[in-house]
Formats: sequence, C-alpha cells, structure tokens
Amino acid sequence: MKVLLHTCCGPCASACVPRLKDGGHEVTMFYSNSNIDTREEFDKRAVEAKKLAEADSVEIAFDDYDHDRWLKEVAEGYETEPEKGRRCERCFRFNLERAARYAAENGYDAFTTSLSVSPHKPSALIFAAGEEKSSDTVKFLREDFKKKEGFKISVKRACELGLYRQSYCGCEFSRIRRCADMI
Ligand code: SF4
Repeated sequence: MKVLLHTCCGPCASACVPRLKDGGHEVTMFYSNSNIDTREEFDKRAVEAKKLAEADSVEIAFDDYDHDRWLKEVAEGYETEPEKGRRCERCFRFNLERAARYAAENGYDAFTTSLSVSPHKPSALIFAAGEEKSSDTVKFLREDFKKKEGFKISVKRACELGLYRQSYCGCEFSRIRRCADMI
C-alpha cells in the first residue's frame, strides 16, 4: 500500500519507517506539527525528520506551521490538562485530520502516525482519532509502533543517526509541565 506516515519527529519516525517498509508498504513521511510552541523548534525538528527521510530513502512532505490555529482549535480551555489528557486527545485529532486530508488529496491508500511510538501517548486514543479521520478512500493503518520495542529502537536509531531528541513533547504546556516536574 501507499502509506502516508504522519511524522511528529525524526527520532520517533526512525522506528516506524523500517517497520512499514518491511511490511511491503511504499512510505512517505508527512511532517505536520503545528502543536510545537515556536517556529524555531518546528524548523529544528523538520531538519531532523528530513535527515531520517534521506537515511531511509523515503519521500517527505512538509505541512504548514500554524500554531495560532492549533492554540485556538486545540488548546483553548485545555491549557492545564496533563499529558495523556483531553488536550492531547484533541491534538491527535488535529494532526491526524491534516494527515488524512493530505493523504486523500495526494492519492495515498492509508495513513498512520509515529505518535504511537511514545510511551507518553496512549495508543487507544491515537487509534480513535485516526479512525475518526479515516474515510472510504483513505484508511487509518492501526500500527502500534511502541510494540516490539519500538521506543527502544527509536532511541537507538536516533543515536546512531545523530538525530536531535527533544526534551518535551511540543506545545508550551508540555514544556511548562516538564520544567515543573524537574523542580
Ligand atoms: S503535550 Fe504533546 S500531544 Fe499533548 S497537546 Fe501538547 S503537543 Fe499535543
């Protein structure tokens, strides 16, 4: 199948691209990350995603950065939610909707996401969001990338490829919470 891999970052995607290719799929990465708090960080992670695409010989497409829209449509009223809570659930839906739309407009058979690599992100919530955004033409591929040691593989490959691994999920609320947890 022709599969669009919504890519949250290069390190997470490094466990997904080989698995999808091994499954016989033709993979394109789709870097879509309007949840990230600053343009600078968005660009930094985009560079790392491109490095992975080159290393794994797959195509990569880049979505626009629209954090103002993300704040309005996802975070407003949910700023104090913990990670894995309702803001994250809305965030998954926001990003997967964009991936599903890009996949439908560009002739893909299916889409999936690197978000499921992270132990901080419940796969059940990600799958529910993906299935909500799937359609008759573009299906959501229910790949649980954290299984079969996906996270461990992502850490190992990120080290081998010299990819930058960020210390917070992406939005300003996750950055504030990570800082608070360290104090
Ligand atoms: S913590 Fe991560 S998944 Fe949750 S809302 Fe922020 S960027 Fe999205």
